[in-house]
Amino acid sequence: PHLVNQIAAGEVVERPASVVKELLENSIDAGSKKIEIDIEQGGLKRIRIRDDGKGIPKEELALALSRHATSKIASLDDLEHVASLGFRGEALPSIASVSRMTISSRTEDNEQGWTVSPQHRDDGAEAFDDPEPTAHAKGTTIEVRDLFYNVPARRKFLKTENTEFKHLQEVVKKISLSNFQIGITLRHGQRNLLTLQPALERVGADRRVSEICGPAFMEQSLYLDYEAAGLKLWGWVGLPTFSRSQADLQYFYVNGRIIKDRVVTHAVRQAYSDVLFHGRHPAYALFLELAPEKVDVNAHPTKHEVRFRDARLVHDFLYRTLHQALADVRP
Ligand code: ADP
Ligand code: MG
Repeated sequence: PHLVNQIAAGEVVERPASVVKELLENSIDAGSKKIEIDIEQGGLKRIRIRDDGKGIPKEELALALSRHATSKIASLDDLEHVASLGFRGEALPSIASVSRMTISSRTEDNEQGWTVSPQHRDDGAEAFDDPEPTAHAKGTTIEVRDLFYNVPARRKFLKTENTEFKHLQEVVKKISLSNFQIGITLRHGQRNLLTLQPALERVGADRRVSEICGPAFMEQSLYLDYEAAGLKLWGWVGLPTFSRSQADLQYFYVNGRIIKDRVVTHAVRQAYSDVLFHGRHPAYALFLELAPEKVDVNAHPTKHEVRFRDARLVHDFLYRTLHQALADVRP
């Protein structure tokens, strides 16, 4: 199973940023209100994510580390209506197979927490000792040390600490923007890089967008919120005066999940260029919401691809909504 996990890890775990993404999604799925991310040496040395979610019961700790042991899908039918972010049951075992992992967790109805760390034996097998008692508040802490220590071929492909940290930070930003209700902190070594309070109202959301996208974006953007034909689009779009030399401020979410999609990109570009946008790259943080059955988010496990059942409808809705909003403020 160890080898199988390592192979699966090749698909899910590319670098520290992918570990952070999977762990954060688990914390969110667990209903956390507060998540603390502690990083050392760009994530190469250590990634530690602590949440206050529902926790993992003692008897499920080892199970969570075995392949396809997702607790989130009860039947194949659920796949169609998958609402939670994780649904593959591969992340934890994959990450554990290529790092030194420790999981500590406590559920509400438990007086104490329990901790496990899977051991990699020389014969390639994975061994679990019984969980040991530990002091822990309700929630889960997962620590991932020495990523790829046992897979030199993959370790070789990692970039410098700085570059790896940039990727990691971008993942945290993307996730923070789609989970306004969760307080999130990010530390790198001794430095506090992000301290995001839970944002329950517009003011708080504005503040978070400002922290993540920068105050200049906040000042030169407009907020929109529009709904028609079962589609809802809301969020912040940079005014035509605010442009970027890089396409680095383009956050688009479908039902809370960050995506990259040609239909979306095309519609947005078109809307901007039709209001005489001479800027280089538009900037936006936009959220599209539609019935889950109208979009397939399972197209690829990590590539952020989606497939809209009615791409034409989505395209026209995005184009018209953005065009209208931008044309209204055209100088
Ligand atoms: P998936 O998220 O696809 O179910 P994972 O391998 O990411 O698979 O996680 C395996 C299981 O471990 C989850 O289904 C969940 O039950 C449990 N789990 C993982 N992380 C957490 C967490 N932070 N809080 C509570 N449960 C967790
Ligand atoms: Mg998961």
